Amino acid sequence: MSFIEDYQRAAELDDHDSLAQFQSQFDIPNDVLYFDGNSLGPLTFASREVLHHTIEVEWRERLIRSWNEDWLAMPLRIGDQIAPIIGATEGTVICCDNTSINLHKALMAAVALRPHRSEIVVDINNFPTDIYIAQSVADQHGMTLIAVPADQIVEHISEKTAVVTATHVDYRTAQILDAPAITQAAHAHGALMVWDLAHTAGAVPFNATSLKTDFAVGCGYKYLNGGPGAPAFIYVAPQHLESSGHSLQGWWGHAEPFDFEVSYTPAPGISRFLTGTATVLSMKSLEASLSVFSGVKMTEIRAKSVSLTSFFIDLFDKHLAHRGFTLQSPRSPESRGSHVALGFAGGKQLVDQMASEGIIADFRPPDLMRFGCAPLFNSHLHIVKLVERLSAH
Ligand SMILES: *Cc1c(COP(=O)(O)O)cnc(C)c1O
Repeated sequence: MSFIEDYQRAAELDDHDSLAQFQSQFDIPNDVLYFDGNSLGPLTFASREVLHHTIEVEWRERLIRSWNEDWLAMPLRIGDQIAPIIGATEGTVICCDNTSINLHKALMAAVALRPHRSEIVVDINNFPTDIYIAQSVADQHGMTLIAVPADQIVEHISEKTAVVTATHVDYRTAQILDAPAITQAAHAHGALMVWDLAHTAGAVPFNATSLKTDFAVGCGYKYLNGGPGAPAFIYVAPQHLESSGHSLQGWWGHAEPFDFEVSYTPAPGISRFLTGTATVLSMKSLEASLSVFSGVKMTEIRAKSVSLTSFFIDLFDKHLAHRGFTLQSPRSPESRGSHVALGFAGGKQLVDQMASEGIIADFRPPDLMRFGCAPLFNSHLHIVKLVERLSAH
């Protein structure tokens, strides 16, 4: 079947794309089509420039003076930059560690706030690290981990539940979970809620404040484009800031780290969720890539994301459905995040073959191909080229 009409349609959609100019802020090689922004965001020109400056000036010239001149303030400053992206207010988000560690801190803090409760409820289809972390917290407290599919979470929450945790956008299918229903169910039983925003932050709107989630964590290197190993973030609701957070106490979370006190006094506010030294180079890269988001509304990002994934699904129906591919992401845009998953026997070989041709997607066992549709650098034209290649497998 011909793709001429699809190329025309893509050109029209790209002409009306208010975010089209953002593509030029990313330094993606010309011979690469990139559909893996959901796993590792690409390099921004801003990150490269800032990293050069950090290395040449802040590190080489200013040396240790840079801690006081700039670096010590970074976790809080970058947390405040992430806050609007997840609907949080100033002083409630801090940038640090990785998602696994931040989830551990959030769950430990939550369990400490709900002593005498014996269960932790988790989505069984969650990204495995989230389940491992939840299991370890349960084991340390002699609690039971209740791992159930997302649509059964609500019915498994009870007076025994200390905390519920799930990932807002499913990493395999891109299904958006019903965050209001799950959060309300947790609260109705006196339990706390921890949302993982790994596949949300930077692509799907989330409002931590109005949702009243107790904690949230998320990734810096996916849709936020911070670079490999970029630090993650943790959000703590204002009402828990002073009453929790001694879960992994290190000197950066101390009220006066440079007094070198023997006894631990937590810092006021969100800073108590820090543990040790910030990974400055990675955090600089993330700070630069976040600057790309300033001035863009999450509603615009969402509209572009929906347009890309809907266009992909239209082309799937036309060109791929009868060629052994199955759609594994929700059809309804309201329940779909920013990637599209296709089932395909032999998907691993196809993903590898396409990568060798410069079309980069990813694969999750047993037979799932994932295609990230990143609103800031992917276009409708990219999607036609991708589907044309898939149809020629
Ligand atoms: C990507 C991802 C992570 C990654 O965790 P790290 O500790 O940063 O390696 C965790 N949870 C979810 C749901 C993810 O998608």
